[in-house]
Amino acid sequence: MPSVSQAKNIMRRSISEIVDPGLTRLEKDLLWKHFGASCAFCGEGIERASRTGHVDHLESGGGNGPRNRVLACARCNGDEKREREWREFLSEKCMNAEVLAARRALIETWVARHSARNRTMSAETEDALRDAERLVDDFHAACTRLRRAVKAGSE
Ligand SMILES: [Zn+2]
Repeated sequence: MPSVSQAKNIMRRSISEIVDPGLTRLEKDLLWKHFGASCAFCGEGIERASRTGHVDHLESGGGNGPRNRVLACARCNGDEKREREWREFLSEKCMNAEVLAARRALIETWVARHSARNRTMSAETEDALRDAERLVDDFHAACTRLRRAVKAGSE
């Protein structure tokens, strides 16, 4: 069962996917090929069929398109990188200067190959997006209030 803040993040991601969809199957195929089925950060091999790999976001707030996605192992994607700046994270993962330069170049080539998506929205879309985001904030506020009430009631 996800916690309230995890649920909030899932809701935010779901909303974001509607406005800015993730990779197509073709884009995913290209990504796996570009990174040679290895983690972009630590270089560990990833089995596509297993769930050990992840199409990770490079920068938070950078959108869901190919320009902001790299292949990452579960450890780098989840536990270690989190919201950190990718170049800083990468330099910690690579102690060898040559390896570091090669991995950084691989990521930069991928980013350069894909242009940023056009993110202009109609007024109607902007309005609907604001409503959806407000619901997430309301959900969080309501859960916080509920938690306090339950706690106060049991004291
Ligand atoms: Zn890794």
